[in-house]
Amino acid sequence: ATVAQLAEWNGTGATSDGHRVKVYGNVGSPADAQAAADAGAEGVGLFRTEFCYLDAADEPSVAEQRAAYTAVLAPFRGKPVIVRTLDAGADKPLAFLSPEAEPNPALGVRGLRVAFDRPEVLDRQLEAIAGAAEDSGAEVSVMAPMVATVAEAAWFADRVRAAGIARAGVMIEIPAAALSAREILEAVDFVSVGTNDLAQYTFAADRQLGAVAKLNDPWQPGLLRLLELIGKAAKETGKPAGVCGEAAADPRLALVLAGLGLTSLSMNAPAIRTVGASLATATLAECEALAEAVLATSDPAAARAAARP
Ligand code: PEP
Ligand code: MG
Repeated sequence: ATVAQLAEWNGTGATSDGHRVKVYGNVGSPADAQAAADAGAEGVGLFRTEFCYLDAADEPSVAEQRAAYTAVLAPFRGKPVIVRTLDAGADKPLAFLSPEAEPNPALGVRGLRVAFDRPEVLDRQLEAIAGAAEDSGAEVSVMAPMVATVAEAAWFADRVRAAGIARAGVMIEIPAAALSAREILEAVDFVSVGTNDLAQYTFAADRQLGAVAKLNDPWQPGLLRLLELIGKAAKETGKPAGVCGEAAADPRLALVLAGLGLTSLSMNAPAIRTVGASLATATLAECEALAEAVLATSDPAAARAAARP
């Protein structure tokens, strides 16, 4: 896209022929939320609630959580917001939830797995989120991190609905979940792909380790083939499948993701306008052709070259 086109995004994520791909913000604080709203985000695709508690020694009360979440949701009254339940462990340890020392924290009791042992912590968080939805007037959905199986997804969706929250989804960031995307979508209302962790677990390459960063490249065809499965599952079930990992912030890859059938892209504020404008430079059929060309390659450099304008 040219600079002029990039300046011209009209604030509604769509291809040039009007196929909707919503452009959302990733947030973890009231300042992030304001920045996302100012950048024109159509909503929030990922609210990382654990970012509110990285320094907390004890579990925050329901009232404290409700106030903290309301402050983040405030700029999005009447707009869709996906709140992620606590993703504690591995790269984001929380003092009040993190388990005993584990030999491999990325493969240990993190994300939703913490809630299987301590469901009352999840239920208190869901109560606070339901309250914040009421206080802020945002259209709140909730999703769980680190879901591996259909049974886990169904277990989570039951608890969300029991808390009076209408829409429950899960993140797809474990390869087994990507391979079961259709069955998972049948059990929940939507999915959102965490490409940072999905790449880490697909390539067995620590996301925090520079020495293996080349494997954690969102243009890796091996990763994009998993995204293809998820996009197909979204089309088959008629349910939304977004992307909220770093991959969504690449304006050229955004076209490929649209072509694969992903229905929303969520990113940090600085990328929002560029991605929104990029989507408007191609038709859905052109995005699908790009996706097909990229899937026919076997390395990231060739994938990037296949998607060049
Ligand atoms: C991801 O894994 O891609 C993701 C969006 O979640 P986080 O980066 O918080 O693990
Ligand atoms: Mg993740």
